[in-house]
Amino acid sequence: MYRTHTCGELRAAHTGTETTLAGWVQTVRKFGSITFVDLRDRYGITQLVFSESLNQQLDEQPLGREFVLQATGAVVERTNKNPNIPTGDIEINVTSYKILNKSAVPPFTIQDDTDGGDDLRMKFRYLDLRRNAVKKNLELRYAVNRAARNYLHENHFMDIETPFLIKSTPEGARDFVVPSRMNQGQFYALPQSPQTFKQLLMVSGYDRYYQVVKCFRDEDLRADRQPEFTQIDCEMAFVEQEDILTMFEGMIKHIFREVKNVDITEKVQRMSWDEAMTRYGNDKPDIRFGMEITNLKSPFTGDDNATIAAAGFKVFDDAQTVLAISVPGCSEYTRKQTDELTDWVKRPQIGMNGLVFIKCNTDGSFKSSVDKFFDADKLKQLAADCKAQPGDLILILAGLEERTRKATSELRLEMGERLGMRKKDEFKLLWVLDFPLFEYAEADGDEPGRWVARHHPFTSPKPDHISIMINNNPVIEDQANYLSHPYAGIKANAYDMVLNGNEIGGGSIRIFQRELQEKMFAALGMSDEEARHKFGFLLGAFEYGAPPHGGIAFGFDRLCSIMGGSESIRDFIAFPKNNSGRDVMLDAPSEIDAKQKKELGLN
Ligand code: ASP
Repeated sequence: MYRTHTCGELRAAHTGTETTLAGWVQTVRKFGSITFVDLRDRYGITQLVFSESLNQQLDEQPLGREFVLQATGAVVERTNKNPNIPTGDIEINVTSYKILNKSAVPPFTIQDDTDGGDDLRMKFRYLDLRRNAVKKNLELRYAVNRAARNYLHENHFMDIETPFLIKSTPEGARDFVVPSRMNQGQFYALPQSPQTFKQLLMVSGYDRYYQVVKCFRDEDLRADRQPEFTQIDCEMAFVEQEDILTMFEGMIKHIFREVKNVDITEKVQRMSWDEAMTRYGNDKPDIRFGMEITNLKSPFTGDDNATIAAAGFKVFDDAQTVLAISVPGCSEYTRKQTDELTDWVKRPQIGMNGLVFIKCNTDGSFKSSVDKFFDADKLKQLAADCKAQPGDLILILAGLEERTRKATSELRLEMGERLGMRKKDEFKLLWVLDFPLFEYAEADGDEPGRWVARHHPFTSPKPDHISIMINNNPVIEDQANYLSHPYAGIKANAYDMVLNGNEIGGGSIRIFQRELQEKMFAALGMSDEEARHKFGFLLGAFEYGAPPHGGIAFGFDRLCSIMGGSESIRDFIAFPKNNSGRDVMLDAPSEIDAKQKKELGLN
């Protein structure tokens, strides 16, 4: 037997017990003739004491960091207790030990505050995983996984595996492809999600399906994405949107209760996509704080503020959209601070030309960067329009609709962050509903602008919007005014769950009739032939009694990272890839040899 106890379980009550522990040497400290060793395993750290009688053996076989050690001795109560660790009341008086394996000197210290940089830790991820900080994250991940599975099992969902070597499923990204040796010149695609399979399972009668499943998307890795990531993927038959919202609100609440001991009793707030865009400039708003947008001028909301229209300020007059936020308690910002904010909105990621500010002083006076155009009365009016309080700093952005809305949303989040309004231990859930069915994809070279599915092509329009789709031609004649095309107004039976400003889940009620699905493919510019080639199996299945159905998928990695209070999903993945999609430990992707290429029929 290698061990009788773990390094995390012995307490004062075990005093006198003979024990054998096995683990890794964290530290070796020599005090005169006595040597102290901290021994670590997955469960904790226990202090070992090697007395003088073992000195000769220690000299012959010295211990080093990360050596794998087995030690036997009696549990004794410490005179010098360490209240910081659970085993801090005891130590082991070692009578015999054995080095089970040696270790090279690790390239960084295996401690909470390690001296290893990101790259080094990823290269030696198996050592990084020994660190407590990383281990805690993986434990949380497992707890979330368990809680989700238990909930789904209790609710009669069945875990059914679906294949990885498939034909493309469109989720809006590029496919990873795998060459086929047996069918040379042909390729499998790795699933961007099991979307079509879970729908087929509904046709097959498995009315509640789930899977904790890998998805593969070949995207340019924007901040904090992984080319392979995990979803809690679910589908239900004979449901309407409300059934799905209730079921999965229940799941998330269950997970919070089980994993974080947080009881979310209130019903999750709901907001339409239009409302989210209007009030927060964003379809995944962080509602932990207010600072909502004032739409001074916008073709999206139809606002046209009179005070602004009358001022004769060219920047506002020429802009399609003018949006403001009132930042509480910042009226005393210095010139340096407002300059810094101006630079912030001018960064390429935000892309604005400038920033207008109005300081609403606590004495009731105003000071702005546009005093030339706005006298005291006008500023007062504008402050009232923006619902600003004395002490607020109003920030105004002007430009093209989409960019300005996005920038204002980013600015709001940034100010919320700076003012400490985005608290890590506060969890605010939100359903965003009624998404547009289509999204406009701008012209690309010779290809004119066209409609793409905002969610995916299997999403059903709102029942009373189906006729708009059937009765109108999808072609966009007036590209500049695509918003006036009837398709721009079609809303989908689609929903996202948002947690603290992050989309943690998304899904929809699906199309389940062949004709409507064909109409959808046509709206997306697919010919009949192309639709049959790509999705013939699904169209065929819809002819054999497809039930009404819908579902949702949760981003498991992201959910874990938010619950763990971290910015990065990588911290919650045992073996993640870096920002260029590389596994630096394996050094993948890599070349394959000529023989392998030949077998696959690749040049
Ligand atoms: N397959 C979708 C996705 O990956 C989720 C869903 O519609 O259920 O986003």
